[in-house]
Amino acid sequence: MKRTLAVSIALYLSVFLIPLLTAGQAPLPPERPTPSPAEEAEPPPAPSAEEPPPEPEFPEPVPPPLELPDAGAAVTVLVGDGAARELTLREFLYGAVAAEMPALYPEEALKAQAVAIRTFALYASSHPYHEDALLCGNPECCLAFSPLAERGEVWGGQYEEFAQKIVAAVEETDGVVILYESRPVEAVFFAATDGRTRSAEEVWGAEVPYLQSVESIFDEEFPNGPKGHGVGMSQFGARQLALAGLSYEEILKWYYTGVEVARLSAETGQ
Ligand SMILES: [Zn+2]
Repeated sequence: MKRTLAVSIALYLSVFLIPLLTAGQAPLPPERPTPSPAEEAEPPPAPSAEEPPPEPEFPEPVPPPLELPDAGAAVTVLVGDGAARELTLREFLYGAVAAEMPALYPEEALKAQAVAIRTFALYASSHPYHEDALLCGNPECCLAFSPLAERGEVWGGQYEEFAQKIVAAVEETDGVVILYESRPVEAVFFAATDGRTRSAEEVWGAEVPYLQSVESIFDEEFPNGPKGHGVGMSQFGARQLALAGLSYEEILKWYYTGVEVARLSAETGQ
Protein backbone atom coordinates (compact mmCIF):
# COMPACT_ATOMS: atom_id res chain seq x y z
CA MET A 1 0.00 0.00 0.00
CA LYS A 2 2.82 2.43 0.93
CA ARG A 3 4.67 1.49 -2.20
CA THR A 4 1.64 2.18 -4.29
CA LEU A 5 1.43 5.56 -2.66
CA ALA A 6 5.10 6.23 -3.39
CA VAL A 7 4.61 5.40 -7.08
CA SER A 8 1.60 7.59 -7.16
CA ILE A 9 3.56 10.49 -5.74
CA ALA A 10 6.33 9.92 -8.24
CA LEU A 11 3.84 9.92 -11.08
CA TYR A 12 2.28 13.00 -9.69
CA LEU A 13 5.61 14.73 -9.60
CA SER A 14 6.53 13.60 -13.05
CA VAL A 15 3.22 14.68 -14.51
CA PHE A 16 2.80 18.03 -12.80
CA LEU A 17 6.14 19.21 -11.44
CA ILE A 18 8.48 18.43 -14.30
CA PRO A 19 6.63 20.59 -16.78
CA LEU A 20 6.61 23.33 -14.17
CA LEU A 21 10.39 23.05 -13.69
CA THR A 22 11.15 23.16 -17.35
CA ALA A 23 8.67 25.96 -17.93
CA GLY A 24 11.19 28.42 -16.58
CA GLN A 25 13.56 27.54 -19.40
CA ALA A 26 11.02 27.93 -22.11
CA PRO A 27 11.86 30.78 -24.45
CA LEU A 28 10.09 33.89 -23.32
CA PRO A 29 8.05 35.83 -25.79
CA PRO A 30 10.04 38.75 -27.05
CA GLU A 31 9.69 41.72 -24.83
CA ARG A 32 7.83 44.65 -26.14
CA PRO A 33 10.33 47.46 -26.22
CA THR A 34 9.35 50.17 -23.80
CA PRO A 35 9.86 53.63 -25.12
CA SER A 36 12.52 55.55 -23.37
CA PRO A 37 11.47 58.71 -21.54
CA ALA A 38 13.32 60.75 -24.12
CA GLU A 39 11.30 59.20 -26.90
CA GLU A 40 8.07 59.83 -25.02
CA ALA A 41 8.96 63.46 -24.44
CA GLU A 42 9.47 64.04 -28.15
CA PRO A 43 6.06 64.91 -29.57
CA PRO A 44 5.12 62.87 -32.56
CA PRO A 45 4.65 64.80 -35.73
CA ALA A 46 1.13 66.17 -35.64
CA PRO A 47 -0.40 66.33 -39.08
CA SER A 48 -3.01 68.81 -37.91
CA ALA A 49 -0.33 71.29 -36.93
CA GLU A 50 1.17 71.27 -40.40
CA GLU A 51 0.51 74.09 -42.82
CA PRO A 52 -2.08 72.99 -45.37
CA PRO A 53 -0.45 72.33 -48.70
CA PRO A 54 -0.39 75.56 -50.69
CA GLU A 55 -3.19 76.00 -53.18
CA PRO A 56 -1.92 75.60 -56.69
CA GLU A 57 -1.48 79.10 -58.00
CA PHE A 58 -3.19 79.89 -61.25
CA PRO A 59 -1.69 83.01 -62.72
CA GLU A 60 -4.05 85.88 -63.41
CA PRO A 61 -4.87 85.93 -67.10
CA VAL A 62 -2.66 88.63 -68.50
CA PRO A 63 -4.25 90.51 -71.37
CA PRO A 64 -2.02 90.79 -74.38
CA PRO A 65 -0.32 94.16 -74.59
CA LEU A 66 -2.42 96.75 -76.33
CA GLU A 67 -1.24 97.44 -79.80
CA LEU A 68 -2.41 100.77 -80.95
CA PRO A 69 -2.19 100.92 -84.71
CA ASP A 70 0.11 103.67 -85.86
CA ALA A 71 -1.77 106.65 -87.24
CA GLY A 72 -0.34 105.71 -90.63
CA ALA A 73 -1.47 102.08 -90.39
CA ALA A 74 -3.93 100.89 -93.01
CA VAL A 75 -7.51 100.21 -91.96
CA THR A 76 -10.30 98.92 -94.14
CA VAL A 77 -13.60 100.74 -93.84
CA LEU A 78 -16.88 100.14 -95.63
CA VAL A 79 -17.97 103.41 -97.18
CA GLY A 80 -20.98 104.69 -99.05
CA ASP A 81 -22.45 101.77 -100.96
CA GLY A 82 -20.67 99.29 -98.73
CA ALA A 83 -17.50 99.20 -100.80
CA ALA A 84 -14.37 98.35 -98.83
CA ARG A 85 -11.88 101.18 -98.82
CA GLU A 86 -8.37 101.16 -97.42
CA LEU A 87 -7.38 104.26 -95.51
CA THR A 88 -4.76 105.18 -92.98
CA LEU A 89 -6.07 105.28 -89.40
CA ARG A 90 -5.37 109.03 -89.49
CA GLU A 91 -7.51 109.54 -92.61
CA PHE A 92 -10.25 107.47 -91.07
CA LEU A 93 -10.22 109.54 -87.87
CA TYR A 94 -10.30 112.83 -89.79
CA GLY A 95 -13.27 111.72 -91.85
CA ALA A 96 -15.18 110.14 -88.96
CA VAL A 97 -14.73 113.07 -86.56
CA ALA A 98 -15.74 115.51 -89.31
CA ALA A 99 -18.84 113.47 -90.18
CA GLU A 100 -19.84 112.77 -86.57
CA MET A 101 -19.51 116.15 -84.86
CA PRO A 102 -20.22 119.66 -86.11
CA ALA A 103 -16.86 121.35 -86.66
CA LEU A 104 -18.31 124.44 -84.97
CA TYR A 105 -18.21 122.59 -81.65
CA PRO A 106 -15.38 123.59 -79.27
CA GLU A 107 -11.94 122.03 -79.67
CA GLU A 108 -12.17 120.00 -76.43
CA ALA A 109 -15.43 118.44 -77.57
CA LEU A 110 -13.81 117.56 -80.93
CA LYS A 111 -10.87 116.02 -79.09
CA ALA A 112 -13.25 113.97 -76.94
CA GLN A 113 -14.91 112.81 -80.17
CA ALA A 114 -11.55 111.94 -81.75
CA VAL A 115 -10.51 109.89 -78.70
CA ALA A 116 -13.88 108.12 -78.61
CA ILE A 117 -13.61 107.14 -82.28
CA ARG A 118 -9.96 106.06 -81.97
CA THR A 119 -10.97 103.89 -79.01
CA PHE A 120 -13.99 102.56 -80.89
CA ALA A 121 -11.68 101.53 -83.76
CA LEU A 122 -9.27 99.86 -81.33
CA TYR A 123 -12.17 98.04 -79.69
CA ALA A 124 -13.48 96.96 -83.11
CA SER A 125 -10.09 95.49 -83.98
CA SER A 126 -10.61 92.85 -81.28
CA HIS A 127 -14.44 92.68 -81.38
CA PRO A 128 -15.16 92.68 -85.13
CA TYR A 129 -18.35 94.31 -86.33
CA HIS A 130 -17.69 93.37 -89.93
CA GLU A 131 -15.99 90.41 -91.52
CA ASP A 132 -13.68 92.19 -93.90
CA ALA A 133 -13.56 95.71 -92.50
CA LEU A 134 -12.82 97.44 -89.23
CA LEU A 135 -15.95 99.59 -89.25
CA CYS A 136 -18.53 100.90 -91.68
CA GLY A 137 -19.59 104.44 -92.49
CA ASN A 138 -23.26 103.81 -91.76
CA PRO A 139 -24.22 105.63 -88.55
CA GLU A 140 -27.11 103.21 -88.03
CA CYS A 141 -24.53 100.43 -87.76
CA CYS A 142 -21.10 101.80 -86.79
CA LEU A 143 -20.60 105.54 -87.27
CA ALA A 144 -20.77 108.32 -89.82
CA PHE A 145 -17.78 108.67 -92.13
CA SER A 146 -16.90 110.63 -95.20
CA PRO A 147 -13.41 111.60 -96.31
CA LEU A 148 -12.30 115.00 -95.03
CA ALA A 149 -11.47 116.11 -98.57
CA GLU A 150 -15.13 115.69 -99.52
CA ARG A 151 -16.47 118.09 -96.92
CA GLY A 152 -15.96 121.17 -99.08
CA GLU A 153 -19.58 121.02 -100.22
CA VAL A 154 -20.82 121.03 -96.64
CA TRP A 155 -18.36 123.51 -95.19
CA GLY A 156 -18.02 125.88 -98.15
CA GLY A 157 -15.89 128.88 -97.35
CA GLN A 158 -15.14 127.60 -93.86
CA TYR A 159 -13.46 124.46 -95.15
CA GLU A 160 -9.92 125.50 -94.21
CA GLU A 161 -10.88 126.63 -90.75
CA PHE A 162 -12.97 123.55 -89.99
CA ALA A 163 -10.51 121.09 -91.50
CA GLN A 164 -7.75 122.56 -89.36
CA LYS A 165 -9.87 122.12 -86.21
CA ILE A 166 -10.57 118.47 -87.07
CA VAL A 167 -6.93 117.72 -87.87
CA ALA A 168 -5.81 119.40 -84.65
CA ALA A 169 -8.30 117.40 -82.56
CA VAL A 170 -6.98 114.13 -84.01
CA GLU A 171 -3.28 115.03 -83.92
CA GLU A 172 -3.25 116.58 -80.44
CA THR A 173 -4.81 113.44 -79.02
CA ASP A 174 -2.59 111.09 -81.04
CA GLY A 175 -2.38 107.75 -79.23
CA VAL A 176 -4.96 108.69 -76.56
CA VAL A 177 -7.62 106.08 -75.82
CA ILE A 178 -10.26 105.32 -73.19
CA LEU A 179 -9.55 102.29 -71.02
CA TYR A 180 -11.61 100.35 -68.51
CA GLU A 181 -9.58 97.84 -66.51
CA SER A 182 -6.76 98.40 -69.00
CA ARG A 183 -8.88 97.42 -72.01
CA PRO A 184 -10.24 99.75 -74.69
CA VAL A 185 -13.92 100.51 -74.20
CA GLU A 186 -16.73 100.30 -76.71
CA ALA A 187 -16.86 104.08 -76.89
CA VAL A 188 -20.37 104.59 -78.23
CA PHE A 189 -21.87 108.07 -78.54
CA PHE A 190 -24.97 109.84 -79.83
CA ALA A 191 -26.14 113.34 -80.74
CA ALA A 192 -28.16 114.44 -77.72
CA THR A 193 -30.46 113.20 -74.99
CA ASP A 194 -33.08 114.49 -72.56
CA GLY A 195 -31.25 115.24 -69.35
CA ARG A 196 -29.62 111.89 -68.68
CA THR A 197 -27.85 109.24 -70.69
CA ARG A 198 -29.08 105.65 -70.78
CA SER A 199 -27.22 102.61 -69.52
CA ALA A 200 -26.30 99.90 -71.99
CA GLU A 201 -28.45 97.53 -69.92
CA GLU A 202 -31.47 99.80 -70.27
CA VAL A 203 -31.18 100.09 -74.06
CA TRP A 204 -29.46 96.90 -75.18
CA GLY A 205 -30.14 94.60 -72.24
CA ALA A 206 -26.49 93.94 -71.51
CA GLU A 207 -24.75 95.37 -68.47
CA VAL A 208 -21.55 97.24 -69.37
CA PRO A 209 -19.81 98.74 -66.34
CA TYR A 210 -18.58 101.88 -68.09
CA LEU A 211 -21.87 102.54 -69.93
CA GLN A 212 -24.10 103.70 -67.09
CA SER A 213 -26.79 106.34 -66.98
CA VAL A 214 -25.30 109.73 -66.06
CA GLU A 215 -26.68 113.23 -65.76
CA SER A 216 -26.63 115.31 -68.95
CA ILE A 217 -29.05 118.14 -68.13
CA PHE A 218 -27.35 120.58 -70.52
CA ASP A 219 -28.73 118.41 -73.36
CA GLU A 220 -32.10 120.05 -72.75
CA GLU A 221 -30.81 123.00 -74.76
CA PHE A 222 -30.37 120.83 -77.84
CA PRO A 223 -32.58 122.40 -80.49
CA ASN A 224 -34.20 119.25 -81.86
CA GLY A 225 -34.69 117.16 -78.74
CA PRO A 226 -33.19 113.74 -78.00
CA LYS A 227 -31.34 112.17 -80.89
CA GLY A 228 -29.74 108.77 -80.76
CA HIS A 229 -29.72 105.73 -78.47
CA GLY A 230 -28.56 107.73 -75.46
CA VAL A 231 -25.76 105.32 -74.45
CA GLY A 232 -22.24 106.64 -73.83
CA MET A 233 -21.14 110.15 -74.74
CA SER A 234 -23.61 112.84 -75.71
CA GLN A 235 -22.03 114.95 -78.45
CA PHE A 236 -24.12 117.97 -77.59
CA GLY A 237 -23.39 117.38 -73.91
CA ALA A 238 -19.68 117.27 -74.75
CA ARG A 239 -20.10 120.66 -76.45
CA GLN A 240 -21.78 122.14 -73.39
CA LEU A 241 -19.20 120.74 -71.00
CA ALA A 242 -16.37 122.07 -73.20
CA LEU A 243 -18.01 125.51 -73.22
CA ALA A 244 -18.17 125.27 -69.42
CA GLY A 245 -14.38 124.77 -69.38
CA LEU A 246 -13.97 121.00 -69.06
CA SER A 247 -11.06 119.31 -70.81
CA TYR A 248 -11.61 116.44 -73.22
CA GLU A 249 -10.38 113.97 -70.56
CA GLU A 250 -12.95 115.34 -68.09
CA ILE A 251 -15.69 115.14 -70.71
CA LEU A 252 -14.86 111.50 -71.48
CA LYS A 253 -14.75 110.58 -67.79
CA TRP A 254 -18.11 112.30 -67.34
CA TYR A 255 -19.82 110.06 -69.87
CA TYR A 256 -17.86 106.80 -69.55
CA THR A 257 -18.08 105.62 -65.96
CA GLY A 258 -14.90 104.60 -64.15
CA VAL A 259 -12.58 104.86 -67.14
CA GLU A 260 -9.03 106.06 -67.62
CA VAL A 261 -7.94 108.25 -70.46
CA ALA A 262 -4.40 107.30 -71.41
CA ARG A 263 -1.95 107.94 -74.17
CA LEU A 264 -0.58 104.73 -75.61
CA SER A 265 2.54 104.83 -77.67
CA ALA A 266 2.70 102.71 -80.77
CA GLU A 267 6.30 101.70 -79.95
CA THR A 268 5.83 100.10 -76.53
CA GLY A 269 2.14 99.29 -76.59
CA GLN A 270 1.80 101.04 -73.21
ZN1 LIG B 1 -20.98 98.79 -89.26
